[in-house]
Amino acid sequence: MPLRTEAQEYRRQYYLKHRKEVLEWGRAHRAQLTRYMRRWRRNNPKAVQAYRRQYRKEHNERMKKQDKKTYLRHRKKILRRKTLYFHSKWRNDPEFRKQQYLKCEHYRALRLGATTSAISHDDLRKRWSLFSYRCAYCGRRRKLTQDHVRPIDKGGRHKILNIVPACQPCNSSHGNRPWRSWFRAQPFYSRQRERRIEQALLKGANG
Ligand SMILES: [Zn+2]
Repeated sequence: MPLRTEAQEYRRQYYLKHRKEVLEWGRAHRAQLTRYMRRWRRNNPKAVQAYRRQYRKEHNERMKKQDKKTYLRHRKKILRRKTLYFHSKWRNDPEFRKQQYLKCEHYRALRLGATTSAISHDDLRKRWSLFSYRCAYCGRRRKLTQDHVRPIDKGGRHKILNIVPACQPCNSSHGNRPWRSWFRAQPFYSRQRERRIEQALLKGANG
């Protein structure tokens, strides 16, 4: 909260002393005041923005609740407006269309566990060799897939540091569960392999 300016402090003191008159005056001039404030807000958009931001920071929890209520009450309208916005953007903005396509492709690649351009074949080969070309979890020598140790939909990244080789059964079984508790519950759990995964999470492809 910024410090009160002298003028603000003066006004505050005045208000505290003459509360009744001030409030009465306000009631009598309500329309005029509203007009004045509206004009002021229009002429000082930066100050309004700063004030709103500050207010949001100080009343975040309460406003979140209020937002949720508003959303639930006007859900249909909000969603329709969003759709309309999306469609008009799609029609009129080629850059936006390109971004959307890229987004789709990226997520599709993630879903399929395919290699996107960010991860090269060479990176993967080095990564697999950290685990002697075996499944990082069960240690079997099977056809290897890319397993995201920290699952993508739990905030994990599609980055080499987050990827270990896993056989398809382990990969599917791991799914989007937290890897450590899942691994420890498996019959093939080994402390040594757990440690190797921990190291791989820190070390990257070259270590
Ligand atoms: Zn396995």
